[in-house]
Amino acid sequence: MSELTKLTIKQLHQGLKAKDFSSTELTQAFLKEIEKKDKDIGAFLTLMPESALEQAEEADRKIKKGEIDLLTGIPCAIKDNIMIKGIRCTAGSRFLEEYVSPYDATVTKKLKERGVVFLGKTNLDEFAMGSSCENSAFHPTKNPRDLSRVPGGSSGGSAAAVAADMCAFALGSDTGGSIRQPASFCGIVGLKPTYGSVSRYGLIAFASSLDQVGPMTKSTEDARIVFESLRGLDKMDSTSVETKDTEELKKIRIGVPKEYFGKGLDPEIEKSIREAIAFYEKQGAEISEVSLPHTDYALACYYIIAPSEASANLARFDGIRYGKVAEGKNLMDYYFQNRTKGFGREVKRRIILGTYTLSAGYYDAYYKKALKVRTLIKRDFEKAFEKVDVILGPTSPCLPFKIGEKTADPLSMYLADVYTVSVNLAGLPAVSLPCGTSQGLPVGMQLIAPAFKENNLFITAKIFEQKHDN
Ligand code: GLN
Repeated sequence: MSELTKLTIKQLHQGLKAKDFSSTELTQAFLKEIEKKDKDIGAFLTLMPESALEQAEEADRKIKKGEIDLLTGIPCAIKDNIMIKGIRCTAGSRFLEEYVSPYDATVTKKLKERGVVFLGKTNLDEFAMGSSCENSAFHPTKNPRDLSRVPGGSSGGSAAAVAADMCAFALGSDTGGSIRQPASFCGIVGLKPTYGSVSRYGLIAFASSLDQVGPMTKSTEDARIVFESLRGLDKMDSTSVETKDTEELKKIRIGVPKEYFGKGLDPEIEKSIREAIAFYEKQGAEISEVSLPHTDYALACYYIIAPSEASANLARFDGIRYGKVAEGKNLMDYYFQNRTKGFGREVKRRIILGTYTLSAGYYDAYYKKALKVRTLIKRDFEKAFEKVDVILGPTSPCLPFKIGEKTADPLSMYLADVYTVSVNLAGLPAVSLPCGTSQGLPVGMQLIAPAFKENNLFITAKIFEQKHDN
């Protein structure tokens, strides 16, 4: 049955519907893959084999009665900063090592209603801060395509689990690239939806004006299926909105930002992306150069806004309200000891950075200025989208790097996010999809669309994906 684990959601659904296999058999097949592979990869932090098999049996009962929907009985994995009621939720942090979710995230609830099977919770950089999964307080995750390399981050566990056929799909969260960059590093599809299209209720907050939950899958069709089951207005998240499908595109107009092909981009990645552009041109797409002039400021802007919001969001982790990792002589000392021992180095760096940029005297110079730059970045995209339907470029400037290669130099780690952060700052949807390999390692292509036009992404991505199916 190991072949089953390689299939897409669409194919699995057809098999379940035709009763070629049951959800129980499918779940067992995935659990077997996890048992075989995960000791080397380390994608999971918590496994839920018993409840998964119960959910599978329930799905089988429904299927028997003919109550089958696209996701019924499909096994998935959930990033460990998204809550599943009654299951441990660590966010990759010591602070939450024993924290049990008191309620379901809205996305979890929606998947439950569709009859999905939950196999387990996946590893991440602590509080989703990082680009390599090495900042997890528990263990690093390895890239299934090359175990000496990182899977990307922060949703590295989810990406590795999908790439290694340990689940049919996974959920990740993306604040500055955490769905797209690991998808690119592991050779899978990752969608960051438009800000507001998916509820953030039950997602442990990193930077609330940037965070979005999204699917990590084996095909763009699957990404669409999962996205459609997640999206929608939720009264528990006041930034969420109801969205509709946008119209089909007759002729696809693709914009290639000239700023995305400068210094710092691996020439091999550039070659793959240029080939993809040539392919689209041959397919009759209209290709034009666009300019996103404030691209150079995106990283600086992101690394002020995200840490500022994080410093506020993480104030609640004081050893009293959540977790307890140390004792103290008095209240101040208790806070001090807990925050010293509870947070890892990268999280502390962000809290210090964010506290500084929000402090009186620096607020105007850094935080307020970054908000203005954010508006300029948003306007760059609005202008570009006056004449194109999607923007195409690389997802990451570099190939999956070696474990330990960038841990001593946080700035070089931040540079890995250069193409992804502006999308979050502008609130736009973007997808990373496999675009060939270089030195045997996956290359990812990023497509960006106007707000709420995820459809443009699915349509454009599918054309490229079909090229590789034939
Ligand atoms: N790598 C980026 C960071 O460290 C993005 C993380 C994310 O999207 N959660 O902030």
